[in-house]
Amino acid sequence: ATPTSIMVGTGRAAELGVLFRKGDALQGLQEVKVVAFDKTGTLTEGRPDVTDVLVLQGDENALLAAVAAVESKSEHPIARAIERAAETRGLSLPEVDKARAVAGHGIKAEIGAVSLLVGNMRLMARENIVTGAFEAPLEALADQGRTPVLVARDGVAAMVLGISDPIRPASRKAIAELHARGIKVAMVSGDTRRAAEAVARDLGIDHVEAEVLPKGKAKTVAALKERHGAVGFVGDGINDAPALASADVGIAVGTGTDVAIEAADVVLMGGDPAAVVTAFDVSRRTMGNIR
Ligand code: ADP
Ligand code: MG
Repeated sequence: ATPTSIMVGTGRAAELGVLFRKGDALQGLQEVKVVAFDKTGTLTEGRPDVTDVLVLQGDENALLAAVAAVESKSEHPIARAIERAAETRGLSLPEVDKARAVAGHGIKAEIGAVSLLVGNMRLMARENIVTGAFEAPLEALADQGRTPVLVARDGVAAMVLGISDPIRPASRKAIAELHARGIKVAMVSGDTRRAAEAVARDLGIDHVEAEVLPKGKAKTVAALKERHGAVGFVGDGINDAPALASADVGIAVGTGTDVAIEAADVVLMGGDPAAVVTAFDVSRRTMGNIR
C-alpha cells in the first residue's frame, strides 16, 4: 500500500463514520477470516431493562433500593437498568459504604452492617453462597433469553432480577453481510450461555463462547486465530480491551468506553455494528486500487 492510497482510504472511511486509528488496520482487515463480536452493548443496544423482579427473601422495595444504590457505583449497562427500575418506583436509595466491582462477576458491597452481592452465578459460587433458591427463577428467565442478576444479602439468596437487552436492528444485517463476504462470525460474551445462545440463534451466528471472563475473551481470540487465521474483534466495554488489543484488528463501537476505544485499531463512530462491513469494503477497495 502506498502512503497516499492509505490516506485516501482512511479519509473515505472517516466520511462513512469509520475511524482508522492505525493505517495498517486498513491492510490488516484484508487478512481477517473471522470476526468475533462482544454481545452486550455491541450486538445488543446495551440499554437493557429490568423485566422481572423476583423476591426470595425480604422486602421487595427495600432490596431493590439497596441493589440500585450498589449499582450506582458500577459502569455496567445492567447497572443503569437497575437504577432506572428503582427510579420508576420512586425509591430513595441508601448510602453505600463500600463497593467493589469484580470484573465479569458483578459487585460486592456494604450498606451499614449489611453485606450485598449483586451479579451472576459465578459471583455467588466464588463467595460460597448456597444457591438452591436461585435455581427455579434462573430456569424461568433463561427460557426467555433474559439475563439474571442474582442478589445475596448477608450471604443468603434474596432476589433475582431479569434483564432484557434488545438486539440492535443493524446487527442482523452486519452479520448477514459479513457472511456474504465469506467471513466467519463468532460471538464472545460474559453473559450466561442461554442468554448468549438466544441472541446468537436470532442473528445467525454459528460460534458462541459464553460466560467468558475479560481475560478469557483474549484467549478466545487466540483460539480463533489458531483455527481460522486473522481475527477481527468488535467490542465496547472495559472488559473487551484485552481482546481488542490481542485481535489482528480491534474494532471499538464508538458509543463504548474510552478504554475500549483506546485499545482498538478502528472505531465505528456512530456505534452501528453494520459499519464493520463499511470498514471491510473501504479496506478492500483501497487495497484493490494499489495491487
Ligand atoms: P458482557 O460480555 O455481557 O458485556 P461483562 O464481562 O461486562 O459482560 O459482564 C459479565 C457478566 O457479569 C454480566 O453478564 C453480569 O452477569 C455480570 N455483571 C457484571 N457487572 C455487573 C453489575 N454491575 N451488576 C450485575 N451483574 C454484573
Ligand atoms: Mg459489552
